[in-house]
Amino acid sequence: MSRIRILPDSLVNRIAAGEVVERPSSVVKELVENSLDAGAARVEVELTEGGRSRVRVADDGCGMDPDDALIALERHATSKIASADDLDRIATLGFRGEALPSIAAVSRFVLETSSDAAAGGARITVEGGRVLAVEGAARARGTTVEIRDLFFNTPARRKFLHAPATELRHAVDAVWGAALARPEVTFALRHGSRTLLDAPPARDTAERLRDLWPGAGRITRFADAAAGIEVDGLIATGDGRGRPALTLIVNRRVVRDRLLVGAVLRVLRETAGGLAGGRLVLELRLPPDDVDVNVHPAKAEVRFARGAAVFGLVQRAVRAGLAASHGQVAVRRLEVDEGHVSEPAAAGYGGLLRARRAADAPPLFAHPAYGEPAPEEAAPGGPPPPRAHRSGARAGAPDTPFGRLIGQYRSSFLVLEDDFGLVIVDQHVAHERVLYDRILSRLAGAVAPSQRLLEPLLLELGEAAAAALERVAGILARVGIEADAFGPDTVRISALPPELEPAAAGELVADLLDRATSLDGAPEGAASEVEEGLAADLSCRAAVKVNHRLGETEQRALLDDLARTSNPYRCPHGRPIILRLGQDEMERRLGRR
Ligand code: ADP
Ligand code: MG
Repeated sequence: MSRIRILPDSLVNRIAAGEVVERPSSVVKELVENSLDAGAARVEVELTEGGRSRVRVADDGCGMDPDDALIALERHATSKIASADDLDRIATLGFRGEALPSIAAVSRFVLETSSDAAAGGARITVEGGRVLAVEGAARARGTTVEIRDLFFNTPARRKFLHAPATELRHAVDAVWGAALARPEVTFALRHGSRTLLDAPPARDTAERLRDLWPGAGRITRFADAAAGIEVDGLIATGDGRGRPALTLIVNRRVVRDRLLVGAVLRVLRETAGGLAGGRLVLELRLPPDDVDVNVHPAKAEVRFARGAAVFGLVQRAVRAGLAASHGQVAVRRLEVDEGHVSEPAAAGYGGLLRARRAADAPPLFAHPAYGEPAPEEAAPGGPPPPRAHRSGARAGAPDTPFGRLIGQYRSSFLVLEDDFGLVIVDQHVAHERVLYDRILSRLAGAVAPSQRLLEPLLLELGEAAAAALERVAGILARVGIEADAFGPDTVRISALPPELEPAAAGELVADLLDRATSLDGAPEGAASEVEEGLAADLSCRAAVKVNHRLGETEQRALLDDLARTSNPYRCPHGRPIILRLGQDEMERRLGRR
């Protein structure tokens, strides 16, 4: 081994490029961020071959004078922060001064810029980090950066680039993100000779989303706030196929934060299928010193000072947003853009559900007034009853939120009819959904009913599990389970929520403690995962099973309660609750059409 050396800047820049520049879309992201930091009103992006052979970003921002333009290519040259204190309240997208030198180190790079058309500007040509030419250039105020042949001098990295179509997808995503975060800025995107995007200034994010994605279905807005943190969101329904796309924006910065994405995905999973093919845009605003953006080389991740509060609020907001998008429940400041066709299923049920929603939730199977007929004006705006007339038959008047109750099939399924055909409800998963929502709301602070056991349950679980009790006793208490330590390896359960059989309770608590023992050092959000796991477990174990006869009043009570849940179509594990056999399909199969 020879002596320690300080690496030359050119090499350091190439190493840094490995962190900042992963693919053409990273170049797009960094250059567009610079344009936005420069106060541009218009940003134009041009790509060739998905950006593999050419990326060009032009703006009408403040530009640079020729001296600054040269300095900007030096490592750690930035105009955006000056002291360590500035790091605590970063208001710009960039701040490290790494992007331009990193990009120039691994491409053929031309920067053209002017801060004042009258004074003239500069054109600087760099190849693989070496400045080849500095010339004067006449141009309007603003900056254009054009790079060709990304990674031409690092063949190993060039090999990792994907097909143009894939790189293009990532680059388009980067432009969409910036365009959603800054609706007031004009964005244009061209690929070869095709214009992929031409978005004029928009009033707000929803209007911008419409411009970016004319094919979006219904767009639902939601908002929530707590403890100085504000969340604004949009849910756009898509074609019902494929994974939903997520755009997360924190203080006007687009991020791909793993924990934040995880928190959102957990909620989407609960309502699986709820947003297939759709898009969720989530904007978080919080005081700058509550969030550290200086934790990731590409600034994709952030760290929150009050992570638990942020994730709790985000999950609550997204849950409410999804419910609203399914055409149920009122959300604070909810607006629904009905400019486009909404999902047929949502329209079919939505009106009825909305009409029912106002009533307070009565307890399940204790039935004060479930029998009242559904309001006449049910299903406003829904599609007209279509084919029912074909066969000469019409559905009976709906007497539950899901249609007219026909009865229970094999003590397991509730069967109904509505204007579209037959509706089959799985009673177990329906009840599971009802209980799950109820338990989650108890966890969120509602009072948990609890019944004292005549004889406490004693569970011998071993010392590790018994020791974990401390950590989850609070969660258990909030769902109505009273548990305490009874000797070093035994847990005593002395009260339970009314829905839970003592026999099922033992297993439930044992599972929970088992999960809690692995919780040490887990990231924030793990506690809420335990809570959700508990809610899912508890509701599954407490729900009525199949092969269980329900009286008519009970059937109606279950359907009413189901209609009030956050998602009557999917159980907490993602299984469908309702199966529909449409009149069309029935007639086709029976050879009538
Ligand atoms: P950072 O954005 O972290 O400051 P960059 O390497 O991306 O670092 O840019 C270095 C500097 O060059 C910026 O601080 C800014 O002063 C200047 N600059 C870069 N792009 C532009 C642009 N499009 N318009 C005006 N100035 C720019
Ligand atoms: Mg920058």
